[in-house]
Amino acid sequence: MNNNKLILEQYKKYMMPVLDFRDVVLQKGAGSYVWDVEGNEYLDLNSGQFCSVFGHSDPGLSSHLNSISARLQDTDTATLSVPVLQAAKLMHEISGDMDGRILFLSTGAEANECCLKYAKHLKEKSGVIAFDQGYHGLTHGTAGYSMSRDRIRPVLPHSYTVKIPCIYHSDQPSVEECLEEFSTLLENNHEDIAAAIFEPIVSGGGFYFPPKAYFQGVRELCDRYGVFLIFDECQTGMGRTGSWFYFQQLDCVPDFVVCAKAIGLGYPVSCIIANGNTVSQDRFIMQHFSSHQNEPFSGELVSYGIQRIIDDNLLSSNETLGTYLLDCLHRLCAMHKSVMNPRGRGLMCAFDLCFSELTTDTEAKVKGEEFCNSALNSGLLLQHCNNGRTIRLLPNYMITKEDVDRLYDTLNNLFTKEEAATNLGDNHELY
Ligand code: PMP
Repeated sequence: MNNNKLILEQYKKYMMPVLDFRDVVLQKGAGSYVWDVEGNEYLDLNSGQFCSVFGHSDPGLSSHLNSISARLQDTDTATLSVPVLQAAKLMHEISGDMDGRILFLSTGAEANECCLKYAKHLKEKSGVIAFDQGYHGLTHGTAGYSMSRDRIRPVLPHSYTVKIPCIYHSDQPSVEECLEEFSTLLENNHEDIAAAIFEPIVSGGGFYFPPKAYFQGVRELCDRYGVFLIFDECQTGMGRTGSWFYFQQLDCVPDFVVCAKAIGLGYPVSCIIANGNTVSQDRFIMQHFSSHQNEPFSGELVSYGIQRIIDDNLLSSNETLGTYLLDCLHRLCAMHKSVMNPRGRGLMCAFDLCFSELTTDTEAKVKGEEFCNSALNSGLLLQHCNNGRTIRLLPNYMITKEDVDRLYDTLNNLFTKEEAATNLGDNHELY
């Protein structure tokens, strides 16, 4: 029996079965690659869970972590430290027009939850608008505003959903239709609604890119009706798309930005940035404290990450490498009927697997899972989303052209084999 199976058989029973875990057990990582206990090598196209943005076991980060552990990790929640203050100043600087005020926390869901709590408190209203297929975490509160909202019992009261505009996809409504929906919702319910929370690029729910005009319209309507606009930049933030934050490419400044994942370089750090121009500072006095809020280790990681992104010119290289990655997906799409709709911005790319329109979500999920398992057996660590219909790629910022070429060759072989074995439809929509 191979070592992956052996170790899983021995230990998996001690884990809560909250997921269908993969059949491999990882042991180490370096750069864009990870290895399982059997010694198999995998190209990791998702930088862990989109977090280890300098690659695995980065030597610079590793020695920085050693020095952090020899200094100061944890303070009581009412005491600030030098690393936290310095990191807050840097976050303020990179968030530009926001005149940002910063709170460091641990996870994306925790930061969204805290942000929504304050939005409701400051507006003295309870309602929240979210995309029907958005994702903001799976804590008791955030799950209620995410696509999995019906798992929460009961479904959160005062929650409203709107559709996602997508100019490319025939199934999705237009910008005008979506703005009309948003406007009507606010017109009828603004006395109940405190905030609208959106991923500016909708990742898990379909990898959609709502156009600039949509968010600018939303901004105007939020201002008209006195509603906070929150951008959940857990995936898009911290340089992934070629700017510090994606809102900077939309010419739409939100009232709050929530950032996680990349900001902690593989360790649990998240942050809320409140817009100093639009969010009253006085009423923040409703107290918030948690064990790992404003921790020195978070400040150290954030400052290290920002400085390194500046020193290594990573905003620009994420854009260049992202273009190279997207081009690789376009070439695969041109060659294979199984690949549709390559799309992306910076190092946040995706493509759809081609299914018949009659494929149900459950069937698509199984097929997406099967595809990712075949990729795993060929040495690629890939993730599906959108109920198995979409494969998303959010590699680390140090990924090389050679790594992308390896991805191309492996996928090319995989699709060639699969297409020989199956009879694929002609549904080859491009966007
Ligand atoms: N928002 C977005 C857009 C995310 O992608 C995620 C994580 N996938 C979260 C929130 C939740 O973050 P976490 O898993 O760190 O709680």
